[in-house]
Amino acid sequence: KPLVFSGVQPTGNLHLGNYLGALQKFVALQDSHDCIYCVVDLHSITAQLVHDDLAGQTRAITAAFLASGIDPKKHIVFNQSRVPQHAELAWVFNCVARIGWMNRMTQFKDKAGKDRENASLGLLAYPSLMAADILVYRATHVPVGDDQKQHLELTRDIATKFNNDFSKRIAERGLGVEMAMGEETVNGFFPLTEPLIEGPATRVMSLRDGTKKMSKSDPSDLSRINLTDDADAIAKKIKKAKTDPEPLPSDVDGLAARPEAENLVGIYAALSGMSRAAVIGDFGGKQFSVFKPALAELAVDKLAPISAEMRRISADPGFVDGVLRDGGERAGVLAEQTMKSVRAIVGLLGD
Ligand code: ATP
Ligand code: MG
Repeated sequence: KPLVFSGVQPTGNLHLGNYLGALQKFVALQDSHDCIYCVVDLHSITAQLVHDDLAGQTRAITAAFLASGIDPKKHIVFNQSRVPQHAELAWVFNCVARIGWMNRMTQFKDKAGKDRENASLGLLAYPSLMAADILVYRATHVPVGDDQKQHLELTRDIATKFNNDFSKRIAERGLGVEMAMGEETVNGFFPLTEPLIEGPATRVMSLRDGTKKMSKSDPSDLSRINLTDDADAIAKKIKKAKTDPEPLPSDVDGLAARPEAENLVGIYAALSGMSRAAVIGDFGGKQFSVFKPALAELAVDKLAPISAEMRRISADPGFVDGVLRDGGERAGVLAEQTMKSVRAIVGLLGD
């Protein structure tokens, strides 16, 4: 079975974008793949060092994973810092990757803002740790939102450079595996991991600004629908969502220059399992005063059971901690296998 890895940062409340772009896909991959789903707590201190309740936030994301339907017995659910091999491999990757590669990352540019010299070194190196998260399991597939596409490309660049720079030592130790690279087959240690980005909501936009993605760390709570929002909050946020004054277009092409309308139609499509064209078939020509309440009702229907289940699971932090401990132990065994080989390839003396 191909191996899937993905992570979510404990930086705040999970929102509809995280659900449609990530969690819903995590759940869908469980039958066909072995999956490792991680609460990436080390990533969460890159943009903001001090958090009020990082441990509580880590448990809350874990509860959301479980409430969405991830099975922690068949698969692995844990928090990143429990498996120190992630940070260890990230250090090696910091020496593989080039500063120029990191400087080009749009997430770094967005999060660092104007004062780039003052951003943490961790924020710059974020993609290197992310590559380590994935490659310490030699995962082949990563379900993510569209915003992470560039980081997945960088992960492949790091794997390629490692495989090339150490090719002789990988071969000498018999640690290479045959892998397809475009048309040809190469012998490398790390696979070239593929992102899984598809569906109508790979990039859910802020409800306040159709040009910015919905984010946990956006200061405006009105910009996102949280998985924990109640029916009233969801209805209010959708009602207040920014739109243009025109009714919905009568065909999908009419959404092209209308980012807010396109976003809401995309959300409706993803939540209902319909195509955008089918949504336009139902609502084309209608006013937002008609479409928005229908969207709110659909969102409440989908999210209310998840949020109720999250509350039920969160009431027992001991259970959540047990899931993370067990997952961490199983992940640690796999990660150590990879690191033993990496240490041997690089020439780091150990047992
Ligand atoms: P932060 O603002 O702290 O970066 P975030 O909302 O971007 O938080 P992450 O933990 O960075 O959330 O990302 C978790 C997963 O959710 C990733 O796979 C990411 O691609 C996906 N994701 C995040 N935002 C969106 C969005 N607006 N639409 C679709 N997928 C998203
Ligand atoms: Mg993010």
